[in-house]
Amino acid sequence: MAIDIVPELLENIQRDFNTAINRNKKIQSIQKMIENGTATYREANEYAVEVGQELAKVFKKHIKSDVLPDGKMYYNIAERILNPTLSNNHVIVARVATEIQNQLNKSIGLGLKGIEPSVNQLRIESIINRITQEEVFDDVSWILQEPIVNFTQSVVDDTIKANVEFQGESGLSPQIVRTAHGNPTCDWCRSIAGVYKYPNTPADVFKRHDRCRCIVEYNPGEARKQDIWTKEWR
Ligand SMILES: [Zn+2]
Repeated sequence: MAIDIVPELLENIQRDFNTAINRNKKIQSIQKMIENGTATYREANEYAVEVGQELAKVFKKHIKSDVLPDGKMYYNIAERILNPTLSNNHVIVARVATEIQNQLNKSIGLGLKGIEPSVNQLRIESIINRITQEEVFDDVSWILQEPIVNFTQSVVDDTIKANVEFQGESGLSPQIVRTAHGNPTCDWCRSIAGVYKYPNTPADVFKRHDRCRCIVEYNPGEARKQDIWTKEWR
């Protein structure tokens, strides 16, 4: 019987990922900004890109056809590697984005705690399903690159979505500001860029294509005027 490659593979991936995160200068400087209370969703997005890229790099180093049985990514391997690692990306990015939301709420005198989004298990499963469909892993190894960054960025976008919806339903007027970024920016990204007031937000405002570096931000809108209402929440 073949030996189970997953425990050692997962351990190597997690070890190298943790080392890379601890050494990453951009992540360190963003963490300082969070401690100082100067971080915004721009930093949350940058943080997510870094975390996603570090995981993608570690995947590239450790996961190849020649370490996989039959050169194929079997479901039971994909599931046991991608569930813990992608969930971990969710946890560390959601924590940072929620802390930034907390600080933004506080800075405008809003006595609300930031809402932490739950993990998008459907997205993890669709990555697992896609990667296990091919006979030869190397033919689809790109899925463990930019789509991993994209997944990690979506944690920040999901945090904004959860907070804007909650604040909007609570009677505030939060806005979503989407700015096109990239060189050059694509037509789709330019068409979706703008300032949207909840609930008049287009469905695609939280969507991204691979390598999309557009920035989605939360703007409190008229929240700062809601003094009386806010006090009830304190
Ligand atoms: Zn874009």
